Formats: sequence, C-alpha cells, structure tokens
Amino acid sequence: MFELIVMACLTGDFSDICASRILPSPTPLTREECQSSAKTRAKAWQENHPSLVVTDPTCTAREQSGTAFDLTEIAPGIHVHEGGIGIPSPKNGGDLANLSVVIGDTSVAVIDAGGTRAVAESLYLAIRRLTNKPISHIILTHMHPDHALGAAVFVEAGAKLIGHAKLDRGLRARAINYETSLNTLIGAKGFIGTKAVFPVEGIKENHEIDLGGRVLQLRAWPTAHTDNDITVFDRRTKTLFAGDLVFAGHTPALDGSLLGWVKVIEQLDWDIDRLVPGHGTPSLSWPEGGEAQRAYLETLMNDTRKAIRKGESIDKAIEHIAESERKNWSLFDEFNIRNATAAFKELEWE
Ligand SMILES: [Zn+2]
Repeated sequence: MFELIVMACLTGDFSDICASRILPSPTPLTREECQSSAKTRAKAWQENHPSLVVTDPTCTAREQSGTAFDLTEIAPGIHVHEGGIGIPSPKNGGDLANLSVVIGDTSVAVIDAGGTRAVAESLYLAIRRLTNKPISHIILTHMHPDHALGAAVFVEAGAKLIGHAKLDRGLRARAINYETSLNTLIGAKGFIGTKAVFPVEGIKENHEIDLGGRVLQLRAWPTAHTDNDITVFDRRTKTLFAGDLVFAGHTPALDGSLLGWVKVIEQLDWDIDRLVPGHGTPSLSWPEGGEAQRAYLETLMNDTRKAIRKGESIDKAIEHIAESERKNWSLFDEFNIRNATAAFKELEWE
C-alpha cells in the first residue's frame, strides 16, 4: 500500500522551515491509485492550509512513509500509545497524551489524536501496520490540545469526529490560543500542518458506536476535568477510556470543577476490568488505580476549605494547598498552583 507524502513549508522569511506530511486516504491505495489522485489531493490540502507552501506530492510505500508508533495491546483488539509526561517542547513534539485504538470486525475507532499532526501521523501509520479496516471514528475525550490537535489526520482518513456536546464551543473558543502556544513551545517545524478540526457530532448523555461485533459506549459527563469530558467503554473487554478524568503519575490538571470532578469519579463505579488514563501508565486497575488521584483531589479540596475558613488570601493559600501531595506526582510545580487557584475561586463562595 502507498501513502501520499508532500513537503510543507512556511512562507516568507521562514520558507526554509519545512516538514514532510502524510495525507491519508480513506481507503488503502495501490501505487497507481495514489499517483492518479496525488495532485488533486495535494492541491485540496494546500487550499485548506493557506499559510503553507505544499510541494512534491510523492507516493511512497507505506513502510517508508514515516515513523510509526509502537502500540501496546492492553486487551484483545485494544492498542495504546503511551504519551510522555512533560510540558510541550521541541524534544517531545507534543506527544504527551495516551492515544488509543479499538479494532472491531468492520472498522476502527481512535480515541484521542495527540498534540500535533506529526504525532497523529505516527499513530495513523501504527494503525495501518495492524489493519486496513476503515477508521470510522475519531473520538476526542475533551478539548485539551495534547489530545485534540492531531484529529485532522483521522478526519482526512475518513473518520467521523465525535465528542461531548460542549466540545465544539470549548475548542472553537480556544483553538487559536492552543495553536499559537503549542507552535511556540514545540517549535514551528514540529508543528507544521497542525490545525484544529471540530466535531460533527456532540454527545449529550449516552451514545453507542458499533465497530462490527464490538460496541463502544460513550458517556458525556457534567463539568469535571473540563466542561466537555466523555468516557468510552468497550463492552467486550470491559475497558474504560477515561481521558483526563483520570491521571496516573502526572499531576491532575483542573480546568473545570473540583467538586464536579470528585462526583464524576465516584460514578465510575461499574464493572471495569481496566482503565486507560489520559496520562501515565496505559492500563490501570480500577478502582484501586484511582486511589492516588482520589487522595490528591480530596487534599486539594480539604486544604482549600481550611485556608478559606481561616480567612487566608488566595496568594498566601496557593503557596501551601496540597503541598503534602508533592512527592506523589510529576509536574507538581507546573500544575498544582494552577489547581489551587482554581479550587480557591470555586470553593470561596460555597
Ligand atoms: Zn486534559
């Protein structure tokens, strides 16, 4: 099978900053099929990326098209790429979230897309090593850029983009900021061609997706980690994809409601054999694997309430809230003060 590769360069003073990009096709292509559509497809992609100069459309054997991730099969038909733990940088290229693939009898669903187009292309190539079945769905667990910004690759590959009913509004409001800040942190070369896309379908409560003999149950939650979190449950293996409702190792990041988050976690109480968190080890036992995060959120809540009761100012309070949790988490300094500030503002008026 062959993939269409183009060279994409920035314009003007930065025209020497280039990267090769894969333009995936909904169906696997022979060399002839790829070549006959190459120019038209490259032109369409160029029109959709007016800030780039797109040249050299070439059909390349899939094995030579780029670097594919090595996925871990955590249960039959469920393959996960474990993202790194860190802040976006040129070195990690925005590869910082767990990305999952579920293979049914007739099609494939992808759960989260990564922080850049390059990350999503590596996931796409990894999927194509496993199967040529159509990629029917790309599900975004929530709006955060490390999960969402690579989604266009799968939309171009023919997948339907699905998320929480509030995802569209949340992502549209932030897309330009997310793109600008990731471009700065990762560097223009690593970010080339990355562009947010928006869901065609928003889930309000429950929704099912049939991949052929394999049903995924999607559930939209009230405000917790963000105001647009969904979980995905694979009934066949009792695997729950929790997105950032559950963190492992990486300090939890609060961008919604602390009280809401604690409540939602309590409701993840059904028969679950394994849980894929948004960050950290790709397969957690449940509920045991969630103990560390429960303890963190509880400490955040209790320390914040105590500080408010004592009449402390927010500036003073955020210096010590949840400090006892420092030893348990990576990126504590990067996230805890932000969490404490959000918690203080939320609980101030209880
Ligand atoms: Zn998140």
